[in-house]
Amino acid sequence: MNSESVLQARDIFKSYHKDRIEVPVLRGLDVEVHAGIVTALVGRSGSGKSTLMHLLATLDQPDQGEIYFRGERIDNASRSRRDCYRNRDIGIIFQFYHLLPELSAVENVLAPTMIGQSVWNYFRTRKEARRRAEAMLDRVGLLHRASHRPTEMSGGELQRAAIARALMTDPTLLLADEPTGNLDTDTGRDILKLLSELNQCDGLTILMITHDDAIAEGADVCHRMLDGKLEETTAALQVA
Ligand code: ADP
Ligand code: MG
Repeated sequence: MNSESVLQARDIFKSYHKDRIEVPVLRGLDVEVHAGIVTALVGRSGSGKSTLMHLLATLDQPDQGEIYFRGERIDNASRSRRDCYRNRDIGIIFQFYHLLPELSAVENVLAPTMIGQSVWNYFRTRKEARRRAEAMLDRVGLLHRASHRPTEMSGGELQRAAIARALMTDPTLLLADEPTGNLDTDTGRDILKLLSELNQCDGLTILMITHDDAIAEGADVCHRMLDGKLEETTAALQVA
């Protein structure tokens, strides 16, 4: 694989502690994500996929090991650098969308961009940000639902809104944790098609985590999680 390394995790260990008992989840895991392709990580429920996702997103820290974003060590970076990494460099989508119920679709897409800004900056940039949020909703085919709240949207629409939100900052990498895990087969297929389009037309690099072999096999590269590590990369499954 010659393309640029976007994200690399080296020799990652992570355990949880429950009633003073150590529960090892990741045991010396290595993974590398290359620019411009869809990489899938497939593993059974409980194999540590979400744990890894949280580490890669710097929402949690490994017990041991290192994580690099474009060659820069990120797991032990300063809080402000990690905030910037999460808010600007990567986008994240989850199985259960994590949209704010009291906000409309367009406000949900806008919210992360506007939070943390000074009042002055907020008023200065809000019009342009709103235009971009609408453009992102349009990109995912959801502009007609811009003023709807999450309770008024279907699962597929909620995931489209979450994808639009993740795209707001034009991230280098999209992390997707079971993005179709809560959707029926047809709706899930539509979301996968959208992600594939974002990869092929817009060049978005995607790391997708799934328990579903059929979904993983649609990726360009597929790794399997087993016993807290990744099995050798299965032959790159090139999308036709
Ligand atoms: P997956 O996403 O592959 O289903 P997870 O990463 O969510 O797996 O969980 C891996 C293992 O770690 C599971 O056995 C789970 O019960 C355990 N686990 C996850 N989160 C915690 C936690 N906060 N405290 C204790 N154990 C946890
Ligand atoms: Mg999970």
